Amino acid sequence: MFKGKAAVVTGSTSGIGLGIARALGAQGTNIMLNGFGDRKAIEALMAELRVQYDVEVDYSPADMSRPQQVSEMIAQCVDRFGGVDILVNNAGIQHTAPVEEFPMEKWEQIIAINLSSAFCSIKAALPSMRRRHWGRIVNIASAHGLVASTTKSAYVAAKHGLLGLTKVVALETAQSPITCNAICPGWVLTPLVQKQIDDAAARDGISQDESKARLLAEKQPSLEFATPEQIGAVAVFLCSSAADQIRGTSISVDGGWTAQ
Ligand code: NAD
Repeated sequence: MFKGKAAVVTGSTSGIGLGIARALGAQGTNIMLNGFGDRKAIEALMAELRVQYDVEVDYSPADMSRPQQVSEMIAQCVDRFGGVDILVNNAGIQHTAPVEEFPMEKWEQIIAINLSSAFCSIKAALPSMRRRHWGRIVNIASAHGLVASTTKSAYVAAKHGLLGLTKVVALETAQSPITCNAICPGWVLTPLVQKQIDDAAARDGISQDESKARLLAEKQPSLEFATPEQIGAVAVFLCSSAADQIRGTSISVDGGWTAQ
């Protein structure tokens, strides 16, 4: 059922997005990559995915903080592949500081990339999904879409908002073969989390290993990171026919974080 379909995965040059792009590619889905990075490295990645999965791969450099560019990314996918069947809103950034010290421009950047970009891409992609009578929207939220932590006001607000958006889109598409759901990962060892590990190691004068162990012990009862491959597998499940009636909800992949 995935063969020949087209998926846009935002923020897929790294981390969880790349894990999801690989998982969908392995099913035979053509992929529109997006995200920042060295152009040569991205071209090498595109070539690797083409060979490894025997699918077509395109790339959009769209900046998810720019609504016009988000729409252009969707239009590029329609031009290249004839439509958008699967949309994974994954691009995201983090910044930590107490509310009183949180820079306004960081707040606006996080809301734009982690939340508003999903609104823009869904708005742009839905007409194509409705035309093709099928669609899957998967929003990558977070454990921080369900619970909060200190120093993450913008991120927690954006991820809670993303779960709200997920529910509205699911209701508006409920009587169609288009579904919209979210995945809420806990800690996944990606560059986004590595930076938090590095910052804590430098701040507390501890080793990388100790910093990782403390990060997990604070939130994730399994004491293990979830992996991009595991998140990719859940995204594939949400895109499968088994998930036809899973609508407007979220699946946590968080090692027990939000069970506490
Ligand atoms: P990452 O830093 O490894 O990857 C982020 C990706 O987004 C990269 O491809 C980057 O180029 C892209 N990106 C950043 N800003 C962009 C912009 N303005 N326009 C287009 N692309 C942009 O991070 P990750 O950990 O893989 O995070 C992916 C998603 O998963 C994020 O939404 C994040 O909030 C969420 N998440 C991550 C974790 C975790 O533990 N890593 C946990 C919960 C949720």
